[in-house]
Amino acid sequence: MSETPHLDARIPGRRLLQSPGPTPIPDAVLHALMGQPMDMGDPRVDETIAACETGLKQLLQTAEGDVFFFICNGHGAWEAAIENLVPPGGAVLVPGTGHFSESWAVQAEALGRRVLRTPWVEGLAIDPQAVAQALRDDPQHQIAAVFVVHTDTSSGITSDLAAIGEAMRATGHPALFVADVVASLGAEPFAMDALGVDMAVGASQKGLMCPPGVGFVATSARALSAARANPAPRFYWDIVLRKSDLSYRKFCGTPPQNLLAALRVALGLLQQEGLPQVLARHRRLAALVHAAVEGWAQGGALGFFAQQPARRSNAVTTITVPPGTDVNALRALAREDYQVAFAGALGPLQGRGFRIGHLGDQNPASLLGAIGAIEAALRAQGVPVGDGTGAAVRWLAQSAAPGASPAA
Ligand SMILES: *Cc1c(COP(=O)(O)O)cnc(C)c1O
Repeated sequence: MSETPHLDARIPGRRLLQSPGPTPIPDAVLHALMGQPMDMGDPRVDETIAACETGLKQLLQTAEGDVFFFICNGHGAWEAAIENLVPPGGAVLVPGTGHFSESWAVQAEALGRRVLRTPWVEGLAIDPQAVAQALRDDPQHQIAAVFVVHTDTSSGITSDLAAIGEAMRATGHPALFVADVVASLGAEPFAMDALGVDMAVGASQKGLMCPPGVGFVATSARALSAARANPAPRFYWDIVLRKSDLSYRKFCGTPPQNLLAALRVALGLLQQEGLPQVLARHRRLAALVHAAVEGWAQGGALGFFAQQPARRSNAVTTITVPPGTDVNALRALAREDYQVAFAGALGPLQGRGFRIGHLGDQNPASLLGAIGAIEAALRAQGVPVGDGTGAAVRWLAQSAAPGASPAA
């Protein structure tokens, strides 16, 4: 027995990680993490950075954009968006989608920005017309940017970025369109240039199948000019300072070499599988979980939090539980006894549900195992559930492989 137990202490087999982030890491990505540091002048460092920039731009589907990396999590990337795009005294509009939009809004307020919100209606996606109305109500154009969370990882809802962008443009308001794709990139279609997104905000530990530690923003030319014109005091987060060919400038110091080596491999894996195939796999895994939830719901106690089926996320499913259910006990039982880790609900949903992540390096067999174990935990805790596992098995048996039918 080791004196200093590893983070992932020895368990027989492999613990399934059904969290919407961090997500399971492919072996090839884990191996890429293990390397000696390189000296800062080694051309392999620049080459790794360039490969990450190129791979990420392909994934984001931006030809024009710049990518800026930070050593941080998603909250750091949020801060980069706030500090670069919203001038002191300026305002930001944050459409309500749940816990994540509200957390971003609170962070912007903490940094001294004025925040306008559209109301969050539980169970529903962002209403594009509410966003447009809030912009029309700002004839002075004080709103510098609209911060849209694409997939709210707490509510398990993906909002329609195309409709939101269209509604925004129809108002003629010049606010920048900023999208948080932390939980959606690699799971939902996202095409930055085609959507007219000015800044995409992401992090390494969700659909990108890497450890936490690298956040990034990708910018349109318009967003970069806005940052250039923004007098807000900042340094580490300043993308203007980071626009450089020198890696030391790009990272405001030492680049996280091992994490970048891992990200490069992960982006390569996604490219090798093919983006349409990656998205089809996520749609299929989401449908598998949806089949299980419909089966469980037959017991009369569980249900979907997301009320609009078309807006249910392909990355994570949020499931409501009856009052009095001890979600933490469910999670502990599943994690410690059955080796399946899943997530609780956050913010205003805390205690009212749980979440199954189906994001990243996942396949139908591992997901079926997780579904079965979660059902066992629900039954062991006396929650009345229908035969969700059987329903998922039956759904899988009649579903076509993603290659055969992309709509599956
Ligand atoms: C996870 C997540 C974040 C925050 O990321 P951290 O790495 O935990 O700081 C932000 N936005 C969304 C949509 C997320 O899913």
